[in-house]
Amino acid sequence: MIRITLKDGSSKEYNDGITIREIAESISAGLARAVLAGEVDGRVKDLSFQPEKDCTLKLLTFDDEGGRLAYRHTASHVLAQAVKRLFPNVRLAIGPAIDNGFYYDFDTEKNFTPDDLTKIEKEMESIIKEDISLERYTLSRDEALRFMEEKGEPYKAELIRELPENEEISFYKQGDFTDLCAGPHLPSTGKLKAIRLMSATGAYWRGNEKNKMLQRIYGTAYPKKSQLEEYLFRMEEAKKRDHRKLGKELDLFDIMDEGPGFPFFMPKGMVLRNLLEDYWRSEHKKAGYQEIKTPMILNKDLWVRSGHWENYRENMYTVEIDEQDFAIKPMNCPGGMLVYKRKLHSYRDLPIRAGELGLVHRHELSGALHGLMRVRCFTQDDAHIFMTPEQIKDEVIGVINLIDDFYKVFGFKYKVELSTRPEKSIGSDEMWELSTSGLKEALDAKGISYKINEGDGAFYGPKIDFHLEDSIGRTWQCGTIQLDMNLPERFDLTYVGADGEKHRPVMIHRVVFGSIERFIAILTEHFAGAFPVWLSPVQVKILPIVDKHYDYAYEVKKLLEQKDIRVELDTRNEKIGYKIREAQMEKTPYMLVIGDKETEGRAVAVRSRKDGDIGAMSVPDFINKIIEEIKTKAK
Ligand SMILES: [Zn+2]
Ligand SMILES: [Zn+2]
Repeated sequence: MIRITLKDGSSKEYNDGITIREIAESISAGLARAVLAGEVDGRVKDLSFQPEKDCTLKLLTFDDEGGRLAYRHTASHVLAQAVKRLFPNVRLAIGPAIDNGFYYDFDTEKNFTPDDLTKIEKEMESIIKEDISLERYTLSRDEALRFMEEKGEPYKAELIRELPENEEISFYKQGDFTDLCAGPHLPSTGKLKAIRLMSATGAYWRGNEKNKMLQRIYGTAYPKKSQLEEYLFRMEEAKKRDHRKLGKELDLFDIMDEGPGFPFFMPKGMVLRNLLEDYWRSEHKKAGYQEIKTPMILNKDLWVRSGHWENYRENMYTVEIDEQDFAIKPMNCPGGMLVYKRKLHSYRDLPIRAGELGLVHRHELSGALHGLMRVRCFTQDDAHIFMTPEQIKDEVIGVINLIDDFYKVFGFKYKVELSTRPEKSIGSDEMWELSTSGLKEALDAKGISYKINEGDGAFYGPKIDFHLEDSIGRTWQCGTIQLDMNLPERFDLTYVGADGEKHRPVMIHRVVFGSIERFIAILTEHFAGAFPVWLSPVQVKILPIVDKHYDYAYEVKKLLEQKDIRVELDTRNEKIGYKIREAQMEKTPYMLVIGDKETEGRAVAVRSRKDGDIGAMSVPDFINKIIEEIKTKAK
């Protein structure tokens, strides 16, 4: 008999030789249908796996990462099988599951065409219909090598040669197709439901440009057709909303060959950026923050003291000044510690909330760069809060309120995760208990539901992460509240308590936007470039029909500008229909058309980006309407 302990803590005895699938069946028929793999003592296994000793078991469905990977990895085997059936001379490389799907790399004489992909997808569908079972078996390294060499698969043979001499190597056989693979997999091809091949592109063997260029086919797979369709729709939407494309079209920002990962902001992008920063400043001022600015370049001693020189050196740009080493800051924290240390603090001064919109530079690999989402320099909307242990809960509530206000303004929903003490950590048990319960109590007091990531905190403290959800259902991690027991120690920060003794303050790092550059990218994609009126770089476009309307148009422009409304006037010799279409393309919230009737009646014909023609209005009425929208940050 073996004892199996399930995720919920319940445990039960089973006969030796029972499989994971049978355990699922013993629990419920619904679970048995949905289960794709099982995590046995932390390792994902096939459903046919027979636990040999007492263990913990987590049954994985498509909702679990391990279940999704097994599902899509099986789809990649089906892809390889289909390609082999249609193109027997193709050589197989590797085919992993990835986020959102899977791929397989093939060595082939000619590139796959869209027609080929359609044929391959059809063949995959018939393999799924054949419902072929996947059988796992192992060979010794020598046998495995001989097997792949006989099959004429040099890439597989190369992979096997790199494994340790006495390793048992596992294979999965499905009918006429066998692949070298560690697994796990679904029990049969019929378990797959909705598949789609997305594209074929070139990819070097092992990602190294000195190696041969292979053909990579990307695909995705879901248990329901509706889920696949939803994903395809989202991909289509995401493409339309790509901030790199919109950033150029709307003339907001750009990245040039001269500065890979170092973005440029154009005048309209700067309007957007400054609005976000102004909003940040006013909200933080209201919430009792002070603003500081620490230098971009500081000497090596500081980075040694903070631990960055030892642990983060690869990501830091350095310079030499007067024959001494300096680093360009990758984080604002060490500078923030020096600011705190300048003075003696009493418990009466705490909490101290010191904010900084700090430009940081980090070396990222060129292959990882992506528009404004992943850059080499960005502005963190940082703040460090120094407090007494008793203040943790209230301070954290304050930060949660601030983050909640910000995200609501942009129409983001969000989810919260709490990460707790990892195996390797510094700080006393007492301090971890105090700080983790401080974060929990704050979340509970706000009535926020959250997921706990056990052991996922940093070595120096627990943290809360905010994952916001955009208008097409993608999630982005932005805000964090991170407790830190390390830096106050390293910098020997103190305050004088009521007892007259020196104490160590508790410190948190927190960001709301995260990175302003990345937040602008997220906003651009979230709104598809159609920013709400208060954020639009151009709020109103005035469109006179012919030149005799120009004088009055200039007059209207002046009236709007006096009220700080951002306005452009289109005096090009173009047809009015063309001017309107173009303003619409630029996603301008309001267009004011001016012809004979408007000039005579001293009015404007208002077109809104959202609702089209909304009729004629006096200029003061229009001004009141738009100012109200700006003030309330209407969406
Ligand atoms: Zn596999
Ligand atoms: Zn910090």
